[in-house]
Amino acid sequence: MPHLDNGLVRIEFDEKTGLLTHLLDLEGGVAHVAPPDPPLGVWKLVFRAGTDEQSLTWPAWKGEVVTSVEQQDDGAQVATISWRNLWFRHEPAAVVVVVTVRLPKDSSASEWRIRVANRSKRYGLWEVRFPWFDRWPAPKTYDFAVPWYNWGHLYPNVADKHTGEFSSYTWSMQFFTFEAAGRGLTIAAHDPLQHYKSYLVDPGNETSMILRVPDGTKPGVGLDETYPVVVETYGGGWFEGCKRYRKWALDQKWCAKGPISKRKDVPKALKDIGIWLLSSVPEKNSSTTPNTWADSIIEAARYYDVPCGVQIYQWHEIKFDNDYPEYFPTKPGVPEAVRRIVDAGIVAMPYINARLWDYRAKSFPGAFPSTAKDATGVPYLEIYGPESGLLTPMCTQTKLWQDTVFELCRRIYQEVGANAIYLDQVAAMPAAPCYDPTHGHPLGGGHHWHDGYRAILDRIKDYIAKSGRELFLTTENPGDAHIDGCDAFLIWNPRQETEVPMMTAVYSGYALYYASPHTTGQGMQSFVMAQGRDFVWGSQLGWMDPNIPEPYRGYLKKLGKFRVQTRKFLTCGEFVGQLTPAAVSEITGSSEEAIRKREAAVPKVSAVWPLWDSPKIATMPAVLSSVWKSEDGHLGLFIVNLSEEKRTFRYSFDPGKYGLSSASLKYTRITESGPGEAAEARGGIQVRTEELAPFGVAVYEASLRRA
Ligand SMILES: [Zn+2]
Repeated sequence: MPHLDNGLVRIEFDEKTGLLTHLLDLEGGVAHVAPPDPPLGVWKLVFRAGTDEQSLTWPAWKGEVVTSVEQQDDGAQVATISWRNLWFRHEPAAVVVVVTVRLPKDSSASEWRIRVANRSKRYGLWEVRFPWFDRWPAPKTYDFAVPWYNWGHLYPNVADKHTGEFSSYTWSMQFFTFEAAGRGLTIAAHDPLQHYKSYLVDPGNETSMILRVPDGTKPGVGLDETYPVVVETYGGGWFEGCKRYRKWALDQKWCAKGPISKRKDVPKALKDIGIWLLSSVPEKNSSTTPNTWADSIIEAARYYDVPCGVQIYQWHEIKFDNDYPEYFPTKPGVPEAVRRIVDAGIVAMPYINARLWDYRAKSFPGAFPSTAKDATGVPYLEIYGPESGLLTPMCTQTKLWQDTVFELCRRIYQEVGANAIYLDQVAAMPAAPCYDPTHGHPLGGGHHWHDGYRAILDRIKDYIAKSGRELFLTTENPGDAHIDGCDAFLIWNPRQETEVPMMTAVYSGYALYYASPHTTGQGMQSFVMAQGRDFVWGSQLGWMDPNIPEPYRGYLKKLGKFRVQTRKFLTCGEFVGQLTPAAVSEITGSSEEAIRKREAAVPKVSAVWPLWDSPKIATMPAVLSSVWKSEDGHLGLFIVNLSEEKRTFRYSFDPGKYGLSSASLKYTRITESGPGEAAEARGGIQVRTEELAPFGVAVYEASLRRA
């Protein structure tokens, strides 16, 4: 049987069918695929001729399978499996599929590649599902983590179907992870060009990455080798999976400008922000004038007493989600009000949508040729509620759209006087695969959608660099396709208890996230759970009404002050781990009983966290923590008491794990106003105790003790 085995991983295929018979994590003793499981298909092809869609998997009606394994000079083993002369529909020998799997010598990260030759006279290759793990995994056998919505989510014992599109709020980084019995398995597309793609995890049915093939509507089009998908096993769960993706991602073009601390195009004004506000310019017939509205923003920023930014809606005469992109003229008095806000040292950031044109806008006939068109040549249509215009996404490759977004930004910086702009939907919404042959890009699939945005964002950044002003850009939802073009990502979706901080686990120190919007209608514990968690995970908090009531406001102010005092960690550092409650670390073993006991040893809190309009109960540990590492090698320990009672938090901490391996350390308490008292402690694994007030916060900086 053709197989790869480096002592860490064993991957084996059936010689006659090329199906996957074994995927073994030898290091951890986990059989992900092994008999008596039926062998798995590893690819599925979808063809189209016009609107006729047909799929192909093995076994095909006719064809042959050839397998081989070779050893490369560097010690890597490579399996090649060719499915040749496959009959497809009535066409003999129409398709050839070649899969290679490369297993490096000392690594559990296998690299999977596919290419498809298509000799059909009728069908184009529309979509390639690869790797496609047919019927894997069985329901309720793995915890599944996927970066979507704000932070990423962890679904224990996954049984439901999950799907998302890269790059969008439904899939913001090109990987997902599985975990069972303390061992992880990550599937990650190492795709430096960031092709438009999607994923599907449907336990019992299939797990796959799905590539929309460029020009896939044209007969005879196949797929050249594009990028490897890495299947990697390791000890640990989603967090370790994130760190492995980080190692690859930081070398890619979207991180080429370096860390936040070194990025000249990310202004200090953004890095410094402690609290974000969210506000709309009042209607023209309102009793509040733009001038008094500006007063309320300035007043709120004074209250918070930290650098603030305000995201500004309704600054234009047109109705929200209507007549886009005719944002000018502004409502009367807006430039004057914005000037007062900026002069008060506040970042003023108006909203525009950087993706949509309204069919009903006067300017639409001229825009029609530049809309993104579906495979039948029709523009897409999006409607956002009963008040919405008839909105259509614009093709990012067209000169008209590139010029339009640039020109809007230039005018907002110059004529409105704003010092930042929020570009709605750029990272949130997936590509609208465009099949307009007059645009000059590959039809449908490819990486041109992201490239188009990169061209737009680069042009605005060039303008900013030449302006001599401190200006910046943000967008909706996080997404690694836009890290070099957008300076901060709005994480606004309603919070859920299943969230885990995948984004900061990967991109801390390289990307900024802002917002923690949460109701004040469900009591302080509900509010504190949301704010405290976002704080230790590294978001710039806020993006709420400037005048939320006390005591909510006071708590937000406290965390804003801590944020400002700990920028070296939360803005410029790396999120490296969490503190383990001592009661948990004292229970050893990986049996189900041990896992249950560890879970039970952690006191929990619950509160209502509304999800859209429906109330949901969120439950989480009463004390949350995080460990951040600054660029100078110091460690930041962040501990928040989410409950309304006093708490004693005993935790074990191993500073050596994060590079502080000296025999003696210094712990400096960080307060809202700066460094407080310092104490010396021995190095090495230690158990520490923190007495926390109700809703209390404790932050320490751990560093080497200087003799
Ligand atoms: Zn196009």
